[in-house]
Amino acid sequence: MFATVPVPTALHICGYTIDLMPHIGATGALAFSFEEKVEVKDARRLLGDVVSIGNVAPVRTLLNGDPDDVLREARKCFADGVDVLAPGCAVPPLTRLENLRAMAAAATTN
Ligand SMILES: [Zn+2]
Repeated sequence: MFATVPVPTALHICGYTIDLMPHIGATGALAFSFEEKVEVKDARRLLGDVVSIGNVAPVRTLLNGDPDDVLREARKCFADGVDVLAPGCAVPPLTRLENLRAMAAAATTN
């Protein structure tokens, strides 16, 4: 699928994607972004050589949590083996800047 695109590619699929993960590498995507519905540990095991991107909960944590919640969840993502820290899906438009800064802080101190 991605072989004709001459740049590094990442694929995002919303929802519970654990059944798809063993097949993501066959798409040619370099990386896979997934939601918090899938545990990072499970994703890391199933994705093989595909880079994992995720998966701080966009609504529960980024929108409705506080910076401590974001830091805690981000650190768990790293502890569980995520390669690239990111929201599990799109960032809700009303997300407070302090929560996004907390996620960036977690990434730079990891
Ligand atoms: Zn999504």
